[in-house]
Amino acid sequence: MFAVALLVDVHAHLTDPRLIARLGTVLASAAAAGVWRVVTCGVGPEDSERALEIVDGRVRASLGVAPYDLRGYEQVIRLIERKAGEVDAVGEVGLDLYRGSKETLGEQTRVFREFIRLAKELDKPVVVHSRNAGKLAIEVLLHEGAERVVMHAYDGDVSAARRAAERGFKFSIPPRIAESEQKRSLVRRLPLEALLLETDSPWLGPSKGSLNEPKNAWISVEWIARVKSVPPQRVVEATYRNALETFGWTD
Ligand SMILES: [Zn+2]
Repeated sequence: MFAVALLVDVHAHLTDPRLIARLGTVLASAAAAGVWRVVTCGVGPEDSERALEIVDGRVRASLGVAPYDLRGYEQVIRLIERKAGEVDAVGEVGLDLYRGSKETLGEQTRVFREFIRLAKELDKPVVVHSRNAGKLAIEVLLHEGAERVVMHAYDGDVSAARRAAERGFKFSIPPRIAESEQKRSLVRRLPLEALLLETDSPWLGPSKGSLNEPKNAWISVEWIARVKSVPPQRVVEATYRNALETFGWTD
């Protein structure tokens, strides 16, 4: 698709059984589509262990817990501390008022804060899940003084997103933008400097129910380019630079 392979999928779940069973093929198609690096996200203790097993130059790991299922979160914290050298980010962590109830919000927030502090202590970015709780999650992050932040698949208030972007927060855009007016309006109102690419594979593919893969990161590129009326190559370059900065990668 592109002359230079510089797409970075900052959020995927390569340990999902549908992907890990044919990981070689999934990564080869990603490379052929111009994807340079994939950050696979471990959710909960077992999945986080599995994510670490597939880390290499190309695949990096981000470890966290689902806000609506916090079982074993202490184990994830210990794992991140123990394997800090092999972990590129903390998360996904955050708040969820879609699958999680209002009654659990206090507990969700407490654990979210613990992970944000851990990320700061270890000088790593935090990858944030904030379904139906975008504005709230941003408030907690700002209150904790988080600076290196990836808001993944953000579905919240665009004005809150703009304020967060002014503080350096990044927003990763999934291929679902092909069917989402909310994602398009988010992209329209944020500067390129605030955008990253993600796929959330195997979820959030271009159409509902489709099996998503990191190779689809180019769909996000094309939609961002279309919405912002810029050449796709500019989107590739900007999101690449933003990814290097956010994750602290030198190459
Ligand atoms: Zn995810």
